[in-house]
Parts: sequence; structure tokens; C-alpha cells
Amino acid sequence: MSTVPVTLPDGSVHDIAPGVSAGEVLRDSLGKGAIAALIDGVEVDLATQISSACTIDQILPDSEEGLHILRHSCAHLLAQAVTQLHPGAKPTIGPPIEHGFYYDFHMEPLGEEELRAIEKRMKELVKQNLPLTREEHDAPSLTAMFSDNPFKTEIIDEKLEAGAGSSVYRQGDFVDLCRGPHVPSTAALRWFKLTSTSTAFWRADSNREQLVRIYGMCYGNKQDLQARQTLLREAGQRDHRKLGKDLQLFHVDEMVGQGLVLWTPRGSVVRQELQDFISEHLRRQGYHQVFTPHIGKLDLYRTSGHFPYYQESQYPPLVARDLMAKLADEGCSCSDLSNLMQAGEIDGYLLKPMNCPHHIRIFSSQPRSYRDLPLRLAEFGTVYRWEQSGEISGMTRVRGFTQDDAHLFVTEEQIADEVLGCIELVEIIFGTLGMDDYRVRVGLRDDESGKYVGDAKAWEKAEAACLQAAESLGVEFTEEPGEAAFYGPKIDFVVRDVLGREWQLGTVQVDYNLPERFELEYTGSDGEKHRPVMIHRAPFGSMERFVGVLIEHFAGKFPTWLTPTQVHIITISEKHIDYANEVANALREAGVRVEVDDSDSTIGKKIRTHRKMQPAYLVVVGDDETENRTVSVRDRTGSQANGMDLDIFIANLTAEIALRDSNQSIVPSE
Ligand SMILES: [Zn+2]
Ligand SMILES: [Zn+2]
Repeated sequence: MSTVPVTLPDGSVHDIAPGVSAGEVLRDSLGKGAIAALIDGVEVDLATQISSACTIDQILPDSEEGLHILRHSCAHLLAQAVTQLHPGAKPTIGPPIEHGFYYDFHMEPLGEEELRAIEKRMKELVKQNLPLTREEHDAPSLTAMFSDNPFKTEIIDEKLEAGAGSSVYRQGDFVDLCRGPHVPSTAALRWFKLTSTSTAFWRADSNREQLVRIYGMCYGNKQDLQARQTLLREAGQRDHRKLGKDLQLFHVDEMVGQGLVLWTPRGSVVRQELQDFISEHLRRQGYHQVFTPHIGKLDLYRTSGHFPYYQESQYPPLVARDLMAKLADEGCSCSDLSNLMQAGEIDGYLLKPMNCPHHIRIFSSQPRSYRDLPLRLAEFGTVYRWEQSGEISGMTRVRGFTQDDAHLFVTEEQIADEVLGCIELVEIIFGTLGMDDYRVRVGLRDDESGKYVGDAKAWEKAEAACLQAAESLGVEFTEEPGEAAFYGPKIDFVVRDVLGREWQLGTVQVDYNLPERFELEYTGSDGEKHRPVMIHRAPFGSMERFVGVLIEHFAGKFPTWLTPTQVHIITISEKHIDYANEVANALREAGVRVEVDDSDSTIGKKIRTHRKMQPAYLVVVGDDETENRTVSVRDRTGSQANGMDLDIFIANLTAEIALRDSNQSIVPSE
């Protein structure tokens, strides 16, 4: 019998008997450890028999391909466990995803206890070391095999061309429609954990069946799984929805509406401090503050292009009262009205989805000359977007949010300097808040030039200006062709938080489109009319989202200048109440936010309660302090200074606040 030459990764050629499996070749040449093989660059099962000359390599569990296969195999394992424990459950699809896998089942919702039972069953199936075997079947055989599962038969009917078959993978009593490859046996799956459940719709279509989605994570080794678990635990503790409640920073009220954030007094302090901080820099950069209403006529948004396009992502229009009455007189039905809305053929108002049109009308409220430019209009403007209810989350995905928005009306020559000014603001914010791990994306045109407005020469200049500005930052930036908006190039700032998660925050966008649509003009030094260019920029992005991210970034321990109540004063007994109030008044006089607890709880209990609210400093006053006009100060790290002179304490504290220092304590660390 002739042999088959197989080329290994090191270039050596081994002659093997035909029919030997890829797994055997790899084990004999490279040792154990592979979970799948690459034959001529194609991923296959280890059981695949080699019948002709080829190159072969191993897929290890830690590699990118290996993790994909492990996670996909875990999804099968999950489906096997679910169908054993819940015989009525119908598996639908179950792909690998980043960090793990999920599987969607048509079944009753699951509780935490049932989830743990499923995980336990998965571990038992791992112990049984069940081989995963591949079989090929034709369509009739597949239809018969999955006859009790309408989801799988739908896939078979739709995906398979007439007469074609497919592979299935079998492990014990479970069989799934699948292309593979998979691990050779369930014993290869060890480092996984089920994490959560949620709901999903079959085919992501809300008119179809609702499904239960079970998520799990899976890694190639114990360390990686544990690291991920630690990270998720940490993330849970930092979750802004939890901390927002514990620290009383914001509230979302069902009676007010989903995704509509109520800033409570303590959260409002954080927002106001951020707004004051940025406003100082806006004044320095020559911005003008404006205020505009929360609604505008539909015609405004017809001109801007926001209506009737993008209706899906907006609250429905407020129909004008006169029109409503007229339609009612004409016997217009609800569905007629809804059709009129759909077509955009109504009169009324829109909750503003953007601040730009209002600012544009301020620009065109009087004749402008080149001497007025650049004109920089800034507003903390609240806008409304209709996010799907499933997408809404805490402060980071909401339906109403306030942008630290501004629109700069500039000449083409001014674009470069103004973009640089915008970027400087972002830099100042990130620098002050210690968010030094960020990257910058510069969105540019791609080759499909037809979809961009404005002339090519102008674009080139604006793109060069954006790139130059990004370069000046001295941080990592990427050029992203095709990521420009159709109306102009843009710069996005993506911050990586302490847990390594990325958040898109600030943005700067050049716009040739809106000046065109609103026919903006200014008189140039040549006496001719010219069209200005607009720059939209929001260094924080949205105040809601930014503060949400900030809560997690600081784990609720805001730098002193942002801390809702900076000092909590605790009395040891009622003898010290007068002095405590004196200290509080002196601090308030100096602009410090203070709270006094003169209740008669024990000192230990008071300290514990107040520490939970994360004040920058806890001040305890007793006999010594009252007698000597001093304070005992403890910071959030637990460092303590006893008998600090009151005036020195106030002077140091106000200096720390004025500097907006993000990681200093006036208490020397021990
Ligand atoms: Zn599969
Ligand atoms: Zn804008």
C-alpha cells in the first residue's frame, strides 16, 4: 500500500499510511495538546482521516482558532445539558462569542438555581468524556432527525440548497446541526462557566418566538478563566447602576419614563462641577454660551434632514393643535394620522434630537462677516433619542441626555486651528480626570466618493487638519477610511477604563452639509458671500454617559473636587456639637460641601455609615479637638491625621479642590 506525504509546520515530511487521522499524526509528531487540526490551512476535527498529500498543523486551545472551537463546543455541551434537564426545550442557534458562547432555546425562562443545575450537568458530561463525532446526512434524513424542532427544520429548509446535505455532530444522546470542527471529546472542555440569561427573538425578529439566551464564558486555561471572573466581579462592584443607587447619584423612575435620568442632588453636584470646569475653558477659548428650547418645528428638522429620516430613533412628533382639530373634523382615523406621520406630512414639533439646527438659526439671525468668525456657540443642550427599551441601561444608554455641545462656524482656513482647540479641551478633561488610557480614531473618506457632500479639495484639507490635530496629541491614533460621516471627517476619543473596557466619549466633527442645507453665509474680506464650515464637538459627549463612566472609573470614589459631600463631620458626643457646627460653617464659608452627623449613635457605627457614602474626608471631633481648635481627619485610603489645626486643614483642603487634583490626599499616607 502506498504512503501519503504529510508536511509538518517545521517543513519536515512524514510518510503516513492513508486513513491515519490528523490527531494521530499530530500526537506522534508534536505531542498531545491539540484540540483540532489545520489541514492545508482548513480547520478540521482531529478525527479527520488523511487520504492525500497535505500540510498539517495543530490548533491549540489557547490560540484564537482554538478558543473559537472550545467556545463553540461549549455551546453544544450547554445544549446537551439543557435538553437533558428540560426535555421540552428546543435548541435554536448557539455561536461562540468574545469571551465565551451563548445558545438560544425556545423554553420557559430560567432562574439562577436552574442555571447552576445546567452548569453542574455540563461538568458531569465533561467527566463522561463523550466523543463528538461528525456525520454527514442528506436533507430528508436531516429533516427526520430534527422533526421535533421547528427551528432547526426552518434552518434546514432555508439554508440547504435543494438536494444538499449537511454535517451534524453527535455527543452521547445529543445531536446538533453543525459544520464543525469541534473538540474530540467533552473532556477537552474544562474552563467554562455559565454567566447569565436574557431573552432574544428567533431570527432577532420581535414578531417571532421569544427565546431564552444562556451566556457562558470559556477559556483555554484556568488562569484566563479566573482572571476574567475577577474582572467581572470587579466590574460588578463598580457598576454605575449599583453605585449610583448606593451613593444616591441618580434615579431612573418608571413613572417618569424609561431611559430618562433624574439627577439627584448628589449626582447633580458632580455634573455641575464638570460643567463649571469645562465652562472655564470655554470662556478662555472664546466661546459664547447660548440657551435654546427643547423642541423645534418639524420644518427645522426637514431642513436639517433629521425628519422624516431617522424617525425610528426619535420620539414621535408633537402634532400641532390646529392640525389635530382639522384632521378630527375631517374624520381622520388614527391610522391615517400614523400614515401622515410616517410620510412626514404633518405640522408640529419635534423633541430635539440634536442641538445643531437651533444654533444654526442663531448664526443666521443676523448678517455675518468674516470678522465674526470663528463664531463658537456652546450649550449644555438636552436631546432626545428613541432607544429600544432592551438597549436602555443606567446612565450610559438613555432616551434623553445632555450634550456639552458646541458648534463652531468657521472659514476653511480656520478649521485646523479650531479642531486643535477642540482637541485641547478633550485633552484637558482626560488629563484632569486621570483618564490617560485612551485612543483616537480619525474617520476619513473611503473611495466611494459619491456619498460625501462638499468638494474633494475642501475634504482633503479638513482631513489633513484632523490628522494633524490627532498627531499633535502624542497618543495612539488610527486612520479609519470609510468612517467619516457623509458630511465631514471626524475625530473620536475612545477611553479604556481600569477594567480594560472601551467607551467612546468625546467627539469632534467637521461638517460641510448643514451650512449647505441652511444656506449659511458670511461676507468675506473680498466683499463676496462665502459659506462657512461647521464643527460639532462635545468633549464629554453626553453628561449622563460621561458621569456613568466616571462612576465606574473611580468606583464611586470621586476626586475631592467632584465629591458630592467632600467632608462628613462626626461628633463623639453631644458636648462637641457646637464645635462641629463651627467647623462645618468655616468649611462652608470656604466653599466646601459638608455634612454633620451629631446623632447619638456610637462613633464606630457613625464612621462605618459615613464611609459608605465615600466623602473625601471624615472628620471626627471630640474633647481634644474642641479644646485645641483642631480636627482628626481620615481619608478614603484609611490614612489618618490627628490634631490637625483647623485653619491648616481648611487651607490645604481648599487648595486641593482648587487644583482639581485627582489623586492627592491632604492626609500624609502612613
Ligand atoms: Zn456546532
Ligand atoms: Zn451638532
